[in-house]
Amino acid sequence: MSLPKFSYLAPASLEEACDLLGKYQGKIRIKAGGTDLMVRLAQRALKPEYIVGIRQIPELAAISFNPDEGLRLGAMALLSDVAGHPLVQEHYPMLARAAKSTATVQIRNMGTVMGNICNASPSADNSPTLVAMNASIVAISKTGERQIPIDEFFLGPGRSALEPTEIAKEILVPAPLPRSGVSYQKISPRSKVDIAAVNVGAMVTVDEQEACQQTRICLGAVGPIPLRATTAEEFLQGKVITDEVAEQAGALAGSDASPISDVRASKEYRRLMVIILTKRALLEARYGTRI
Ligand SMILES: Cc1cc2nc3c(=O)[nH]c(=O)nc-3n(C[C@H](O)[C@H](O)[C@H](O)COP(=O)(O)OP(=O)(O)OC[C@H]3O[C@@H](n4cnc5c(N)ncnc54)[C@H](O)[C@@H]3O)c2cc1C
Repeated sequence: MSLPKFSYLAPASLEEACDLLGKYQGKIRIKAGGTDLMVRLAQRALKPEYIVGIRQIPELAAISFNPDEGLRLGAMALLSDVAGHPLVQEHYPMLARAAKSTATVQIRNMGTVMGNICNASPSADNSPTLVAMNASIVAISKTGERQIPIDEFFLGPGRSALEPTEIAKEILVPAPLPRSGVSYQKISPRSKVDIAAVNVGAMVTVDEQEACQQTRICLGAVGPIPLRATTAEEFLQGKVITDEVAEQAGALAGSDASPISDVRASKEYRRLMVIILTKRALLEARYGTRI
């Protein structure tokens, strides 16, 4: 794989990294694992003069959980770290499932959850569950920090709300609500080790009568960004998720999707899979409900 010429910079602190992004604005790209970035460089889709590697900034690798604030995933937390972390597996099993569904062992040992999000691909494996769980992204630059709700993060294929001078520092995922459950569903042409043709994340929170109080459903690979299935979400408000209700919600999610045909799947197949995977996700999230 031949690459264009660039200078590689490896700051040891966030402060230094922010200075570099400010100084070389427009000429510099961030590299986390590089599993997306290097492909784009090889394709000459990007030709930065500088690349800033953030692997050597120790605080970015952290993964922590506390029951009030929830989960913090540092920008350099590898897909394999997230898939295998005991706290993620215990409190956020669907984040672990999504990370484990991403690519191959080799890629998971290099690539990060944050890189998967910042790449802003509509089919990214880790976006639907993070959207369903109402995560947010902490961005830092020389001028300070800000928190971007994930609903406002994706702007289009390959485009996010991050400014060119900002580093996405960590992902915050709220603590799971009582009486809530989450599901991640994926279908891809080559079984598991492949980019999704369709993926769905859902979080369901119910009241004491098992009626939906809050539902967040996110559809991947069926629009320019990971899409909220708002018609299906509104339909579920106040309803108990039976098989029939899940099927009806799935059909509504199918109308919320706006898929295109490409090498991975036709738009008709994608819409059908949205219907089926949304139903599955809702039933799994319901059965996952903690009482
Ligand atoms: C063979 C192969 C198979 C793959 N299979 C899948 C798959 O099944 N599912 C899937 O979803 N993806 C897949 N991918 C894509 C890729 O591996 C993932 O998206 C990975 O999570 C990217 O993480 P990374 O750390 O390597 O990101 P990088 O390549 O380092 O960065 C990706 C983009 O995000 C930006 N970026 C990274 N970190 C930050 C940050 N902290 N702040 C601001 N911007 C940042 C970079 O500048 C770049 O534009 C595959 C890739 C390959 C090569």
